[in-house]
Amino acid sequence: MQESPARSLTARHRMKRVLFLFSDTGGGHRSATEAMIEAMELEFPGVFDCDKVDVFREYLPGPLKYAPELYPPMTKFPEGWGFGYKALDGRRRAGMALQMVYPYVRRATQRLFRENPADIIVSVHPLVNTGMLRTMRKSPKPFITVVTDMVTTHAFWYDRRADLVVVPTDDAKQLAIEYGIPEGNVRVVGLPVAERFAVPQASKDELRQQLGWRADLPVILLVGGGDGMGPMARVAKAINEARLNATLVLICGRNEELKHKLEAIDWTLPTHIYGFTHQMPEFMSASDMLVTKAGPGTISEAFIAGLPLVVYARLPGQEDGNVSYVVQQRAGVWAPRPDQVVDAVRRWVNDPVARSEAAAASHRVAKPGAAREIARIIADQVGVYPALN
Ligand code: UDP
Repeated sequence: MQESPARSLTARHRMKRVLFLFSDTGGGHRSATEAMIEAMELEFPGVFDCDKVDVFREYLPGPLKYAPELYPPMTKFPEGWGFGYKALDGRRRAGMALQMVYPYVRRATQRLFRENPADIIVSVHPLVNTGMLRTMRKSPKPFITVVTDMVTTHAFWYDRRADLVVVPTDDAKQLAIEYGIPEGNVRVVGLPVAERFAVPQASKDELRQQLGWRADLPVILLVGGGDGMGPMARVAKAINEARLNATLVLICGRNEELKHKLEAIDWTLPTHIYGFTHQMPEFMSASDMLVTKAGPGTISEAFIAGLPLVVYARLPGQEDGNVSYVVQQRAGVWAPRPDQVVDAVRRWVNDPVARSEAAAASHRVAKPGAAREIARIIADQVGVYPALN
C-alpha cells in the first residue's frame, strides 16, 4: 500500500537528519559518504534522513568553489603538491592557515548551516571541519569527523571541538592524538566502503560474462582514482608492450582526455576502456589484480575484494603512508616505474599461486564492516540504538 503524502511527511519529520559534508576533490570523499548513507539505511531502515553537500562546489566562494575542478591539474605536479602539503602540516601551522581563511568562508558556512538543519553533522573532508565547527559555536550539534586518508593524515583533519574522530588505522589514531584530539574521542574503525564490494552480486565468471570480458584470462584492472590521475597512460602502454596473456581493463574516471588517448592505442591484449563507472564493485570482483595510484578509497575497496595491488603512483604527503601500509601488509608492491609495474604484473599473471597468496594477504587487512560500524556510531551520538529497530 502506498503511504499518503501527509503520513510520509510525518514519518520524515520524525526521522533523524544526518548531514554529510564532503567534496569531489578526487573520488574518495564521495564514495565514503555514499557508503555511510547506504549503511545508515541498512543498519537503521527508515530511521535516518541523510543529506550530503559538496561544501566547496555548493557553498564556498570562488576560487575555492572550483576546488573539484582544480584538484586534478594541481596534483599533476606532485612535488609542488607535496611541498604545500607538508608546509601546512603541523598543529600550529594548520591552525593559523585555517584561521586566516575563515573570514573569507564565514558567510558561506553560516548559510550552509542555516539551510541544512540536521541532528548531527558528519564531515568527510579535511578542509571543512574547522570552519564548520567555528560557525556552530553558538548553536552546537553533534559533529563527527570521518577521516578518509589512511595513515599519513593531515593536521587539517583534526579539530578538537569534534565530538568524535573516526580513523582507518592505528597510525592515523596516533596522529590524531598528536594533533590534539583527546584519545577518548578517537575510534579506529576503517574506511567506509560500499556494501557491494563485500557482497558481490554474482560469481566472477558471471560478472565477466555480463561485462563482455573473457573468462579464460587473468584480468588486470588499472585505475587512477576518480579522475584518472598519475601516469596511467605510460603504465598502460608498458603493459601493452609486455604482451601478457591477460585481459587489461582501464578505468579513466572523469579524465576524458586520457580515455581518448588510450582508445587510440593499438592493443596487443584484450583491452576494455571505460570512463567514470558506477560498477567499481563488479569490476573488482571480476578482476585478479589491481594496478592503481595510492588512493585510500580504491585501496580499501581492493582489500575487501581480495585483490593484490601494484601501486604505481602516490601523491606526496597524504598518500605516502598508503604505499607503506600496502607493502608492510604484503598486500601488494610499490612500482613507481612502468617497467616495475610490468614485472609485478607479469609475475602474478604467470604464477597463480603467488597471485592467490598476495590476494589472501590483501583480504586479511580488509575492514568490510567499517561503514556499518560508523553508521552505528553516528546513531549512537543521537541516541538511536540498534536494539530499538
Ligand atoms: N571510482 C569510481 N568510478 C571510477 C573511478 C573511481 O567509482 O570510474 C571510485 C573508486 O571506487 C573510489 C574513488 O572513486 O571509491 C576514488 O577514491 P580514492 O580515494 O582511491 O582516490 P581519489 O580519487 O580520492 O584520489
